[in-house]
Amino acid sequence: MMLLSGTVVADSSTVVTDGAVVTAGDEIVFVGDRTDALEHYPDHERRSFDVVAPGLVGAHVHSVQSLGRGLADDAPLLEWLFEHVLPMEAAMDRETMGVAAKLGYLECIESGTTTVVDHLSVRHADAAFEAAGDLGIRGVLGKVLMDRDAPDGLLEDAEAGLTESARLIREYHGAFDDRIRYAVTPRFAVSCSEACLRGVRDLADSHEGVRIHTHASETRDEVATVRERTGMGNIRWLDEVGLTGEDVLLAHCVWTDEREREILAETGTNVVHCPSSNMKLASGVAPIPDYLDRGITVALGNDGPPCNNTLDPFTEMRQGSLLAKVDSEDATALPAETVFEMATVDGARAAGFDRLGALREGWRADVIGLSTDAARSVPVHDPLSALVYATHGDDVVFTMVDGNVLQDDGEIRCCDADAVRERARELATQFAPE
Ligand SMILES: [Zn+2]
Repeated sequence: MMLLSGTVVADSSTVVTDGAVVTAGDEIVFVGDRTDALEHYPDHERRSFDVVAPGLVGAHVHSVQSLGRGLADDAPLLEWLFEHVLPMEAAMDRETMGVAAKLGYLECIESGTTTVVDHLSVRHADAAFEAAGDLGIRGVLGKVLMDRDAPDGLLEDAEAGLTESARLIREYHGAFDDRIRYAVTPRFAVSCSEACLRGVRDLADSHEGVRIHTHASETRDEVATVRERTGMGNIRWLDEVGLTGEDVLLAHCVWTDEREREILAETGTNVVHCPSSNMKLASGVAPIPDYLDRGITVALGNDGPPCNNTLDPFTEMRQGSLLAKVDSEDATALPAETVFEMATVDGARAAGFDRLGALREGWRADVIGLSTDAARSVPVHDPLSALVYATHGDDVVFTMVDGNVLQDDGEIRCCDADAVRERARELATQFAPE
């Protein structure tokens, strides 16, 4: 039971100056004026911040790629993927996978992301599920499926991959007080056979609440490869094999034609925008304002540490807004309110968690507290503007997920952060460039 006071940014259009959020167990029980909160909840443990906000949702991340941060900078996507990132994933053992995941979740918790939709790797997925459960982050995680065009160590028969996915669903979907859920996770259409992709839909349909998470139409080369094989555009192909719908998250969707955009809208498919990754890998500019005009839910993701290179959700909001403005030559494109919604309520909807992504009574107690002491944050004329355009992840000093305090007064409480960082440095040496 906690009383968290400060300027409360409850959602993109509701700010309570001198406000408070009160939590009891895993729920928010009060959002309003601080004086009212103190009167009604005098015995609650108290914390005071400059800003109180909902925890952010990173709807497309690769926690297990954390040890590849800075490994393959300034390289185009297919070279980046096949010469650097996939060989690293193929070489990772169970311990390395677990430490990499922990490092990724630690970075998220430190910088204000309380929910992740996480694209793991082909092997050792258990290590990441256990890391997420141990640290207390909320997440939708999935083991990766690759049954063609994959390097040794990652190539896996479709049936074996789907059988292992079904085992992981039984083991972890709804685990850790339902903080952890499952997404069936084909890497992308290029590395999955038709049988594999159709099997993904069948598996998701046979388990309530399981989602589907994949990459789609990130680069022109990827779209051309799928067209060569199937005679269809990538999104049309995914629709053909069942991988569109309200339970599907498609990361990127940079290169889509008119009919494909209609399909995304008609089927209620969720798009996850990863602006930093798209810029760094020179993949292109996703038509996000157009998707939003069509009513498509668009969430925000950092993608992986090797292509970003951080998991800071505030940087991602800023980049998303700025990229849309450059692309459209329209300074009103993707304003602060819109990218904040993408990083909160829309991300929660895409991830499939109800009562998440805003501070409301009866909603899940995923809350962050921030300092605006840094010179770059002074003054705060508009708290939402400050969060989107001036805040950095290290301004987050308090992180609560499901009512549990994971970071307090800038100190990580959910694990031995020094030990995680030290082991990560040691294990990363095996991937150092020659
Ligand atoms: Zn990705």
